[in-house]
Amino acid sequence: MDCENNYNTYDDDVEVNFTVGRRFLTGNGVEKDIKKAKEMLSKAAAMGHSLAKQLLDTIKDESAKPVVTDESENEIERMLAYNKRFVESRAYEHFSTSKYPDKKIAIVTCMDTRLVQLLPAALGIKNGDVKIIKNAGGTITNPFDSTIRSLLVAIYELGVNEVMIIGHTGCGVQGMDGKEMLHLMEERGIDDEHIKLMQHCGIDLESWLHGFDKTDVAILETVDLVKNHPLIPKDVVVRGYIMDSTTGELVTL
Ligand SMILES: [Zn+2]
Repeated sequence: MDCENNYNTYDDDVEVNFTVGRRFLTGNGVEKDIKKAKEMLSKAAAMGHSLAKQLLDTIKDESAKPVVTDESENEIERMLAYNKRFVESRAYEHFSTSKYPDKKIAIVTCMDTRLVQLLPAALGIKNGDVKIIKNAGGTITNPFDSTIRSLLVAIYELGVNEVMIIGHTGCGVQGMDGKEMLHLMEERGIDDEHIKLMQHCGIDLESWLHGFDKTDVAILETVDLVKNHPLIPKDVVVRGYIMDSTTGELVTL
């Protein structure tokens, strides 16, 4: 279909307005034209198309790029379609378990994509075995951050009595520069005034965003922090490890 020439023929159809409008917005199969995209998405939005309204909100001016790209949207749509099939085929029955960890272990580790399946596979963990708490780096730098809160829930509410802190080789947080991230924020349009105001209020953004120099040292510091935390019972066992991000080999620190 030649969208450029024929789209007016279908302008009463909400889905066509949305689909073609989105194509003009992203330049998918047609020459990118924000004005036409706005016009068609506005029609679809006026007819109650909620996604069209969301897309319109991402267009601030003629030259602005949409926050939601076609690619990411398709990826999520594919996930949603898969999810539907997953539930319909009752594939969930294989994963049935309770909220209490059978092994009474909590693992604090990194959000790194290489560990998503590798870590459970390499440790023989199945659904229901452990609590896994993830963040960037798998370390804890503040005794009252959300990771410690999660550990308290795991220990007091869910029966955990052992904690494994697992770092990994080639971690992205190693060598992360707080100053560089603040620079990236400014490039993405974060107002310098907001950053200055936070700093004025005593929030040291640069050190908050700073990574660690050595993963093993950072993991051992986290072990120390958890072990000596005033709200963690002394009989809870806390140990540190490094996982090889390729082989899954676990080394005890
Ligand atoms: Zn990492």
